[in-house]
Amino acid sequence: MALLRQLCIIASQLTVVLSSAGNIWTYKGSLGPEHWHLDYPHCGGIRQSPIDLQTRDVIVDQTYLSPLYFSGYDRVSNLDYTLENNGHTVQVGLNDKTMMISGGGLGATFVAEQFHFHWGAVDERGSEHSLNGRHFPMEMHIVHYNKKYGNFSSSLNKTDGLAVLGFFFEIGRFNVHFEEIIEHFGDIQFKNQQVNIKSIPMIDLMPARLTNYYRYVGSLTTPPCYESVIWTIFNETIEIAEEQLEEFRTTIFENDRSEGGVSIDISDDYRPVQCMFRRRLYASHPSLKFDMATPRETGNGGVSNQSSRLLFFTCLIFLRLLLPIFSLKIAL
Ligand SMILES: [Zn+2]
Repeated sequence: MALLRQLCIIASQLTVVLSSAGNIWTYKGSLGPEHWHLDYPHCGGIRQSPIDLQTRDVIVDQTYLSPLYFSGYDRVSNLDYTLENNGHTVQVGLNDKTMMISGGGLGATFVAEQFHFHWGAVDERGSEHSLNGRHFPMEMHIVHYNKKYGNFSSSLNKTDGLAVLGFFFEIGRFNVHFEEIIEHFGDIQFKNQQVNIKSIPMIDLMPARLTNYYRYVGSLTTPPCYESVIWTIFNETIEIAEEQLEEFRTTIFENDRSEGGVSIDISDDYRPVQCMFRRRLYASHPSLKFDMATPRETGNGGVSNQSSRLLFFTCLIFLRLLLPIFSLKIAL
């Protein structure tokens, strides 16, 4: 009897190990983004994020995409923020749930839950979204859940469950507001470490002009990739000094302190851009619709167009592969 009980305990422990192994994903190698759909089927969907924002094709709708209404973003929260290294990114938990967005075509009120970052090992990459093929060195996501669902986890898999605000970074002046986060990186170098930090008014972390933005419907950019996100990507960038970005690149590790060996830094924690398929990209202002033939950005237009063309053909092949599956379903 004792032996049977012992076997049951071992079996249950084995199940835990196996099921947690199924939850592991990374940005590189055999558990990288190209393989996510094997363990997380939603990652292979046709409404995935991030995407390349092709400004030539946007639909401008100034009436629908009115300025967003930000409530509580200018206040210092009564509760501390929770700064955490989760092994994939640096994440800041907003604990008092008093910051909300509405308007701007969102169709509901969304409550701010957390914000986090995606960054590259070098300045030429790091952002998840790209603008006409051009990537930025870092991107911040402020994640909100739909108030009507009560909390983040209940909203996660609902079609109108989440609203994420995306901001691109550019190398520039030293950013005193972000330094209030970066100065604590020494306490969260390793996976699962967290520390409470003084709250910062969110408005200080965002660009001054928030009326110009792109809008599309998509997904979480990490597994399980639920297609539950209304995306808003702002046109104005946030400035950060090279040495501040360097702190993200060199002091945050993806491994646990106890794992020993050489620490692996988290740089390049971004998912490649996904196919647009039948989705449309909207913009809140006519200045956001422009053709790369008359570029606003200079310098790497050639590279951008090349990568955009490559993505277009990859998506065509993907669609071609999907067609037989769809016809089979219809036949059944
Ligand atoms: Zn993100």
